[in-house]
Amino acid sequence: MATLILFGGGGDLAKRMLLPSLYFLDHDGLLPDGLKIIAAARSEETTEAYLEKVRESVQPRAEADNAWGEDSWRRLTERLEYMAVDATDADSLKPLKARAGEGAVTAFLAVSPSLYGRIVTAMKTAGLAGPDDRIVLEKPVGRDLESFREIDDAVAHAFDERQVFRIDHYLGKETVQNLIALRFGNAIFEPLWNNLTIDHVQITVGETVGVGDRWPYYDEYGALRDMVQNHMLQLLCLVAMEPPSDLDPDSVRNEKVKVLRSLRPIMAEDAERVTVRGQYSSGEVESRAVESYEAERGQPSDTETFVALRADIDNWRWAGVPFFMRTGKRLAEKRTEIVIQFKPVPHSIFGHGERGDIYDNRLVIELQPDEDISLSVMNKKPGLEQRMQLQPIQMSLSWGQDGKDGAAPRRRIAYERLLLDALHGDSTLFVRRDEAEQAWKWVDEVADAWSCRECRPLEYAAGSWGPEAADLLLSRTGRKWNAR
Ligand code: NAP
Repeated sequence: MATLILFGGGGDLAKRMLLPSLYFLDHDGLLPDGLKIIAAARSEETTEAYLEKVRESVQPRAEADNAWGEDSWRRLTERLEYMAVDATDADSLKPLKARAGEGAVTAFLAVSPSLYGRIVTAMKTAGLAGPDDRIVLEKPVGRDLESFREIDDAVAHAFDERQVFRIDHYLGKETVQNLIALRFGNAIFEPLWNNLTIDHVQITVGETVGVGDRWPYYDEYGALRDMVQNHMLQLLCLVAMEPPSDLDPDSVRNEKVKVLRSLRPIMAEDAERVTVRGQYSSGEVESRAVESYEAERGQPSDTETFVALRADIDNWRWAGVPFFMRTGKRLAEKRTEIVIQFKPVPHSIFGHGERGDIYDNRLVIELQPDEDISLSVMNKKPGLEQRMQLQPIQMSLSWGQDGKDGAAPRRRIAYERLLLDALHGDSTLFVRRDEAEQAWKWVDEVADAWSCRECRPLEYAAGSWGPEAADLLLSRTGRKWNAR
């Protein structure tokens, strides 16, 4: 019988994401038969006390989704237990190995990445790194290419690459997978998906939350390492990659690596032209006064809480098509979206200025706060006016109506998909070592360019969309960020 071990089973990620995901999977009958789940952390606690806490975080979430059931909860509790272990100590892991028995083990490391190296070494000694076992690693693995390699070498010492599942939870989002379906399950997009028809691409990950008491971690990383190296480059890869020959994990990941290798390095002399670093000052977010990053941090800091940059992909498909990315804390809206901006019509027959009433087509893939894919197209305004009037309309291309009785299906937590895939050994939606290395290499070059030029972060008011320079990054080329 297989076992899932959640190291860090008492932590924030486990409580907010992993255990609710496991509840939903069990509720829907999707967990493998007989799967045992062992939550493990150092705190001495009984399984009963642990389950009580888990219930407090799972039940309200399940009720909100109309998916709470005492039977489902009982089923989960029958397979879930808590064990107090120090995962860095092989002796402490031996009783855990005995409890897991001979079946395959999937271990999820929901602990600080600084422990990964010691934990995998202890797992190997304790017999938890057999050929059928798997390990799931949360980001961030490392802070740069060198530290990534150090940690990953320790992982590689205990596990083969096929056993390693590096999570980027954005890849578990339904809409991100729908982007793959849209691109490769339809004939109409591929002929347009290139520099002949697409003007530029925008990727925005806006957060309204501040760094708060996460600053000890954040201050060492900043927005570039925390968001761009992983989530944003993964989204860029899925937009830009060539069609893989199939959905085999390596086919997809080979195509993503090719995109990362084609990213033009950002050198010191380009830093001011194609990148913007920002840090929030005090301001108002969602009608609430909030402190500056430095006030939260308690002392001055050079860490960026905002980054905007222009990435260029040097290959035939994307030559001349900029990919603009921006992400930050304490921005005006919580919004994650990819915008594919098409070129204007070559000539307007509708009069009125250069382009008439025509807005250029735009495909918007929204990941947060809602998940949707919509295409803006021009349409005739109904009416009998002498001169034809046009209006843009949004066509939704997403899955909203597919659920039971025509209702939208429950929006799954991204971790549900990823936990299930890891349990089934499917690594398509996980990041391969060479992908992570290539992404770090590019991000390291940006960080080096910044330090060469001594680029201090520009201040932006909390509640805005970042420093003005981020708007200039686009407006200099006659473009602007998508606004609602
Ligand atoms: P956390 O709340 O600090 O939880 C860490 C957990 O690890 C605790 O249960 C802790 O419990 C346990 N732990 C620490 N040392 C241990 C050891 N030697 N052996 C066994 N257990 C140990 O951290 P988190 O926020 O859940 O984050 C966990 C990981 O997920 C990190 O890699 C983080 O970067 C990543 N992540 C988190 C989020 C999030 O939303 N929280 C989002 C993305 C990524 P004891 O003290 O009882 O041992």
